[in-house]
Amino acid sequence: MPLKPGISLTTPLAETGVVPARQADLLATLGLTNVGRLIAHLPMRHERIADESTIDQLKPAILGSARGEVVAVRPVRGARPRLEAVLMDHTGRLDVVWFNMMFLHEKVVPGVRVRVHGKPQRRGPGIQMVNPKLEVLSFEKEEPTESQGRLRPVYPASEQINSAAIERVIQKVLPAALPLLEDHLPDQFRKDRDLPSLAEAYRMQHAPRDPGGEHEVLQSRRRLAYDELLLLQLGVQMKRVQLRALHTSPALKVTPEVDARIRARFPYTLTKGQESVVEDLKRDLASATPTNRLIQGDVGSGKTLVALYAMLLAVASTQQASLMAPTEILAEQHYASISRLLEKSRTRVELLTGSTPAADRDRILASVADGTTDILIGTHALLTDDVKFKSLAVAVIDEQHRFGVSQRATLRAQATQSNASSGATTPHILVMTATPIPRSLALTLFGDLDISVIDGLPPGRQPIATKVLSSQARRAAYADLAARIEQGQQGYIVVPAVDPTTDTTTSAPLVDVKTVQSALETTYLPGKRTAILHAQLPRATREAVMERFRTGVIDALVATTVIEVGVDVPNATIMIVEQADRFGLAQLHQLRGRVGRGGTSSACYLIADPVTPEGQARLAVMEHTTDGFALAEKDLEIRGMGEVFGVKQSGLPPFKVADPTRDRELLNLARRDAQSWIAKSPRLDRADEATLKRRLMRTHGQFLGLADVG
Ligand code: ADP
Ligand code: MG
Repeated sequence: MPLKPGISLTTPLAETGVVPARQADLLATLGLTNVGRLIAHLPMRHERIADESTIDQLKPAILGSARGEVVAVRPVRGARPRLEAVLMDHTGRLDVVWFNMMFLHEKVVPGVRVRVHGKPQRRGPGIQMVNPKLEVLSFEKEEPTESQGRLRPVYPASEQINSAAIERVIQKVLPAALPLLEDHLPDQFRKDRDLPSLAEAYRMQHAPRDPGGEHEVLQSRRRLAYDELLLLQLGVQMKRVQLRALHTSPALKVTPEVDARIRARFPYTLTKGQESVVEDLKRDLASATPTNRLIQGDVGSGKTLVALYAMLLAVASTQQASLMAPTEILAEQHYASISRLLEKSRTRVELLTGSTPAADRDRILASVADGTTDILIGTHALLTDDVKFKSLAVAVIDEQHRFGVSQRATLRAQATQSNASSGATTPHILVMTATPIPRSLALTLFGDLDISVIDGLPPGRQPIATKVLSSQARRAAYADLAARIEQGQQGYIVVPAVDPTTDTTTSAPLVDVKTVQSALETTYLPGKRTAILHAQLPRATREAVMERFRTGVIDALVATTVIEVGVDVPNATIMIVEQADRFGLAQLHQLRGRVGRGGTSSACYLIADPVTPEGQARLAVMEHTTDGFALAEKDLEIRGMGEVFGVKQSGLPPFKVADPTRDRELLNLARRDAQSWIAKSPRLDRADEATLKRRLMRTHGQFLGLADVG
């Protein structure tokens, strides 16, 4: 079948003249409905198939491929279940055995023609392959023998249609499709960056040419990854320009008097790291340009005080501020500590969460709307509710784990709407991360923000000795806890429990915190005062428990990860984490940050029986590293971007090719390029930018809430 003339990228595959309807249906199950989508279906890897030969030419211990007809199959059950088969071609017989792959029995049936790829070995007089790669050859039209070791693309495939079949279709359509691919980058621009053209890049992916096929694959991957990174960065920069063009924020009064009044409220002298961020904030908030700043700092670096500084700047200008925390418990904590700091001042602070009784809620909402309340503290739901501010100047989002670019765009829209003062007035937004985030990830997830880092910890912090113990050795940890309690110190015991509001580990057996508590009390901590804390307890109970823990009435708190962030009791000097291998490194670091806050040296025991070497290595990292930024990098390396920091839930469109953690150079290049591009052409509305803009809007327009003002 020849390719029909006049095809375009949107031509349905069935209408190309080269894809039979039945096959088009199968391809459609993978979302490959038209020419463009087919070409965009990239190989997941490439494979050099060793020379295919006849069966009698296979050499023992040398990787080879051969094809033949299946003449006999025999499943063998028992201790080592296996599928045995015999292949024949015109030159001889090859025995094949697959261990633990009984499912192949469905495909490997007598009469079928297959290609196998593996290392043959002698077996008696004959020759055998153990666990070879298998390709079932199509009856209709068998592919020609692979003559030389060609580099073959391996495509994401499905039960119904395999990689080889996808490859055949792509090869048929490719020559006609490539000339249709319009490059969105100017020739000179891409040449300066040593990037192939778009058409060339797709050709190199689908049909790499030898010699040097491997190099072509890398070169083209670089182009496609760069494109993904550049598009997102362009979108983010464009959004930034739009925000600045369309909105203003209150320019706050920042004077030495205001500064002195705020500092007088603080119980500590700020650290150098805090000072430098306060400087950034003073500059930001004194300007009418809306602030979008990410404040990073290790656990315990003192982010709250910095946030409070910003909020008090708003209050000093008779404006309002809000502080949003990820959990009610943390919001309650912030409310308690900030109220204490602002005691006997005129600043009015209120707490609003899902647990606030209806009557209080109405009163608080009214006081927020008429401006009587200066600072409103609550959970992240604060802005999604019917909360209306008189004039919200500073919105702080604390301990943020999972906010992607798009959620923040929504937040900005809500914050703007909830501001009664004027439709065009939007608050300054400060985001504080819960855990240090590697720069690569920060630029991707938070690419639209300016970033400040609080370097270093407040003085007098004690090191936290971290030890991984097997469950059999856990008694030692509890002995340490009991001894510390005898000396008047306190501790935490963290258990992984399924808790719909905070637990992100799935498919875990539900651990009943109450049962754990009573088991611990009788076995390890007789006579000690323990209490449980988890998110399902009523608010009054939670607050009472925290208050009793803070005041030392309780010795040890048995808690779920609700204490992961924000809980701040300096007298707590020991933490025991049960089933520690169930937590990510960043999360463990965050948990561990609950101790080591006072003047006493602290301990953290991680109880786990990891089964894999990786699991062991991961926990061992915790013993050696206390630097949150270093741990975050490690976590990212081990678990990958999808798992860490809730990137999956962040709403960030997943990259198909780019991996910001591995493509750091490329990310930096894309970011710099996007910045200077948008500086020169903020709306991308030059004629030669039309393709680029169309692709940008299609990929990120809705996601970023980009107004198409072109
Ligand atoms: P995080 O950055 O993890 O949110 P916090 O803001 O909770 O850290 O601060 C951790 C602890 O350090 C708190 O007990 C806080 O009171 C204390 N702290 C903050 N700033 C200072 C400072 N400049 N000097 C001494 N202690 C400080
Ligand atoms: Mg904090």
